[in-house]
Amino acid sequence: MSTRRTFLLATSGLALSSVAPRLLAQPRFDKSPFTLGVASGYPQPDGIVLWTRLAPDALNGGGMPDAAIDVTWEITDSESFRNVVRKGVERATPELAHSIHAEISGLQPARVYWYRFHVGGATSAVGRFRTAPATGAASDKLRFALASCQQYEQGYFSAYRHMAREDLDLVIHVGDYIYEASWGSNRVRSHGVGEPMNLTEYRNRYALYKSDADLQAAHAAFAWLVTWDDHEVDNDYANDRSQDLDPPDEFLRRRAAAYQAYYEHMPLPAWARPRGPDARIYTQAGFGQLARVFVLDDRQYRSHQVCPRPGRGGSTVVKDADCPERRSPDLTLLGAEQERWLHDALDKSTARWNIIAQQTLMAKQTRITGGEQGYWTDGWDGYPQARERLLGHIAARKVSNPIVLGGDVHNAIVADLKVDFDDTKSPVIATEFVGTSITSQGPNQKITEAARQNNPHLKFSNGTQRGYTAFDVTPAQCNARIRTLSRVTDPQATVSTLASFTVAHGKAGAQPDSA
Ligand code: FE
Ligand code: CA
Repeated sequence: MSTRRTFLLATSGLALSSVAPRLLAQPRFDKSPFTLGVASGYPQPDGIVLWTRLAPDALNGGGMPDAAIDVTWEITDSESFRNVVRKGVERATPELAHSIHAEISGLQPARVYWYRFHVGGATSAVGRFRTAPATGAASDKLRFALASCQQYEQGYFSAYRHMAREDLDLVIHVGDYIYEASWGSNRVRSHGVGEPMNLTEYRNRYALYKSDADLQAAHAAFAWLVTWDDHEVDNDYANDRSQDLDPPDEFLRRRAAAYQAYYEHMPLPAWARPRGPDARIYTQAGFGQLARVFVLDDRQYRSHQVCPRPGRGGSTVVKDADCPERRSPDLTLLGAEQERWLHDALDKSTARWNIIAQQTLMAKQTRITGGEQGYWTDGWDGYPQARERLLGHIAARKVSNPIVLGGDVHNAIVADLKVDFDDTKSPVIATEFVGTSITSQGPNQKITEAARQNNPHLKFSNGTQRGYTAFDVTPAQCNARIRTLSRVTDPQATVSTLASFTVAHGKAGAQPDSA
């Protein structure tokens, strides 16, 4: 593997160029280059990452000259920008599609700041973020929203318009930020083109999604932490294997293009910049003594899904008798290195709440097919020993108040997590909240309800509504409100709370709030 990747790096054309591009000292724009908005991410007690991309013709490659351009950023402590507290210049280069990832330090902890960019006489929209509390600070609250799965064609991003109006410190996005493919019924808008395969096509797909005003509003309103799932590259991919079993070298070239476009469009720090088909994006973020967030990557390093259909990669549903390999301890969802890192990071955490943000449903969710339990091989049910290792570690080390966040299944699920799901007496050791999707169509409620009844540790499961989940964490409790839209195909959709749950400090398992 490493030999192949080194070869790819050298020949893919995505490797860093040793020749610096020409600098355009005094750019002039016919129209604003800030068409994709602004974003911030990865808040620290003294710093933040500020993002924008210069793209006057965003949907067609960007429309920028083949030259570097210096962009000015400024940060203020009041919305009027009367008192600029930090100011600097960041170079936008064609290599990174003229995106900016300005890593700012020297800020005060737990403070709200506003920011904007200037270039060639144009000024960007204003963004806002809050820095994290100081590491040792006994902060009294953390508010964040959980989002995932935003198929552009299946609805409007109204969930983000409503999210932007909440009082939040953070947004956590757990994947399917773009979709590579068109699918589903009742589409209200169109990708306009087929699946992206190369860097230009992935850039144009991100530009299409990021041209949405509601999505821009949620980025401008709060700092984000992000991870990807499969659709940022290709449905159901696993490591170097695509669902169509493309030659791995070919698929890794596609993955490199997709990862680079992802980096170019997210407020990620420079350490997350891809090197060919490899990009480390898993990380942790502290919020005083109150909470620590662990952001995982369960796509890049995972074992291939077991027992695929003949001639295919990707997922399927299997029964135990037909697929004993599923229980192999050799299977990994995170990869050995990330798994070790996570165990170690959980051991070292002194936070009251430990929030594990990952892609998909962690709880067991079997479906009965032909009188037997069926397991979906793309989720944690396809990697049960890996799940047992993680939950076993959490139980053995008595990790303080573990909360698992997920997405992927387009279904709002609240679950009790156990080391042994088959034993109803096995203690509840962590609490899971899977968000519904921003737009992507969900499962039939009859199937969902049957699965819930078949899996008693699932306390709530509703895939009929689109939206996000809003969390309110205090030293005493973690409250989750499932916020859903009146209708995802209505650009003026309203939002309401479908259900809400609370986890008390020291007692794993969410309890429904009385209405
Ligand atoms: Fe999805
Ligand atoms: Ca997915």
